[in-house]
Amino acid sequence: MKHETKPVSPAAALAVLRPSACPGLLRVVAARDGGLCRIRLPGSALSAARARALADAASTHANGVLELTNRANVQIRGVRAGEEAALSAALIDAGLGPAGIDAASPVERACAADELRNVMLSPLAGLDPDALWDTTELAAALIDMMQREPRFAALSPKFALQLDGGERVAMLEHPHDIWLAALHDGATVRFAVGLAGCPTAQPVGTLAAEDVCASMRALLHAFLDLAGADATRMRDVLATHSLDALLQRAQQHGDFTLTRDDATLPAWRRAASPAGLRLGAHTLHADGSGYVGAQPALGRIDAPTLRALAALAEDSGDATLRVTPWQGVLLPNVPAHAMPAALERLDALGLIASRADPLARLVACTGSTGCAKSRADTKADAQRLAAMLPPDAEAHLSGCERSCAAAHCAPFTLLASTPDHYDLYQRDDTQSGFVQRFGQLIARNLTIEAAALALAQRPRSNQDV
Ligand code: SF4
Repeated sequence: MKHETKPVSPAAALAVLRPSACPGLLRVVAARDGGLCRIRLPGSALSAARARALADAASTHANGVLELTNRANVQIRGVRAGEEAALSAALIDAGLGPAGIDAASPVERACAADELRNVMLSPLAGLDPDALWDTTELAAALIDMMQREPRFAALSPKFALQLDGGERVAMLEHPHDIWLAALHDGATVRFAVGLAGCPTAQPVGTLAAEDVCASMRALLHAFLDLAGADATRMRDVLATHSLDALLQRAQQHGDFTLTRDDATLPAWRRAASPAGLRLGAHTLHADGSGYVGAQPALGRIDAPTLRALAALAEDSGDATLRVTPWQGVLLPNVPAHAMPAALERLDALGLIASRADPLARLVACTGSTGCAKSRADTKADAQRLAAMLPPDAEAHLSGCERSCAAAHCAPFTLLASTPDHYDLYQRDDTQSGFVQRFGQLIARNLTIEAAALALAQRPRSNQDV
């Protein structure tokens, strides 16, 4: 039901009540190209109706440019000055806000509820018949638990959890403050639990599925007990306290049932998903139905294209989209007979559905057109590099050291040094990608042309699979 929208997010009030530079639904932050509003999608899911609402909001209150993020969320760029509150209200009206929040909710409460939605799932959560666990309900229960506990409003807007149900497509290289990954335990399933890392690393213990919420509650209380004023992330607390101290503290909060001597742990190894599964048509069921994946070039999509994607999801699938952490989309539940036409329509929309396209292997941050920190126009330079990118090479262009476009270490990183030059880094696969920022510096101050040549001359045995 539509109701009259009214301002709910006075930026000045939030700046005082809940200061942060992290964009959100109610926190539209200033960027060089206008305001930036980030919409967290539950389990990366977006109905066609809400996709249209997003496109309409981006056209009405901003410049019509949207981005798919590496946390499988969406952000609206170029929000016009003075229209921030109307944009937030329109998005909440469309059901894109946290549960239980409406346009009349107090802004601080609404903002905290929004920022407690950082729970990443596979884009195939609840869809992959071979997954060990449907994580969608567990994620909703975790978010509800965190939103109900007033103390958890103190968690940083960046504090993030990952739930891995064992789906065939999952981003497993992004570090999270807490990750949980389903694993077989005889005939049942338990969850491996890890801290300040990603599910390809060694867990600290396991939990029964029914104990996850209560144990996470205890662990979050323990984290907040030990976190000093500047400790906003799990890695900060583990830098100043032992793991034993943290887990013992969690036990003091009750219902913390982590098993640390689980016999399955030494054999833990969750392999990364093959990159080819993110793009193109893939069967999930015996009747040939499945999903179709594609990505807009460099994660940017305009409002008309998002509307067209919504129509495609209605015509070909189940009227939903899943946003992927590779800045792409999946159309779920597409019958086998509809897949070729869906791929044709994606191609006509300019979306990329094959790794053979060099733009499928490039990531670039916003760059100097939208970010004052950027030393180069990374988006335009990535487009130029695409024309020269060697086959199979995969690279990340970053305008500064913050690495907004890639939370993981890419096989190659071009870090801007001046408006037309980049330092080239290569990931060292003898080390965990998690502990590396960009990898090893192999050349300084390269033009895009020189970088393309350097990439052609480097061995690429360590590309993402
Ligand atoms: S990586 Fe740096 S330059 Fe690029 S968008 Fe982020 S802050 Fe801006």
